[in-house]
Amino acid sequence: MAIVIETFPVYPLGCNCSIVSCEETKEAIIVDPGGDENKILQYVSENNLKVKQIIHTHAHFDHCLGTSNVAKHIPGSKIRLHKDDLELYDHLDIQCRAFGIHYDMDEVKPIDDFLEDTEILSLGKSSNMEVIHTPGHSPGSVCFSIQSSEYRILFSGDTLFAGSIGRTDLWGGDYTSIIKSIKTRLMHLDDDTVIIPGHGEKSVIYNEKKYNPYIN
Ligand SMILES: [Zn+2]
Ligand SMILES: [Zn+2]
Repeated sequence: MAIVIETFPVYPLGCNCSIVSCEETKEAIIVDPGGDENKILQYVSENNLKVKQIIHTHAHFDHCLGTSNVAKHIPGSKIRLHKDDLELYDHLDIQCRAFGIHYDMDEVKPIDDFLEDTEILSLGKSSNMEVIHTPGHSPGSVCFSIQSSEYRILFSGDTLFAGSIGRTDLWGGDYTSIIKSIKTRLMHLDDDTVIIPGHGEKSVIYNEKKYNPYIN
């Protein structure tokens, strides 16, 4: 049984949005719908997906600006986030203003349910996804890990990038915490785990262990 992962960068800051679905049941999870909601909704309808959850690696605006519009068109989908980033989600207007991005606050839908550290999210019959709380880039930053015999994938948000790590100078960011999160929660994953970060190119755990200057 297979899972299908579609990843593409979305407006306005090129956040990698992923749509993860079970080939058999068509159940799906959307990760970080930062924008381009029409493109996301088109993929969902073209593939007949049943989106159960819309989840976020964190609540910076570039990972959430498409959330409300996507959720509005997919009845029954739950918007989920770690509770430590709720304050950021509740202040998307301030975030957008700080970055000079226009956004209409009337459209923001509330979070339905908080993501918990070590929680397992079901992906139809194919696989499971574990929530890993990795504070540092923001207080409620999380990563999502799929570890099975067939798949080893990590959605690392803005915590870990190919050859770099997330910035810690934004609201609630903390350098000591991000380093601790990466070293204690991510580096034990299998070397061949494919990393799909919040921005930019993919990597694998082995390369980051070996070459990422922030980890060595
Ligand atoms: Zn961020
Ligand atoms: Zn980002």
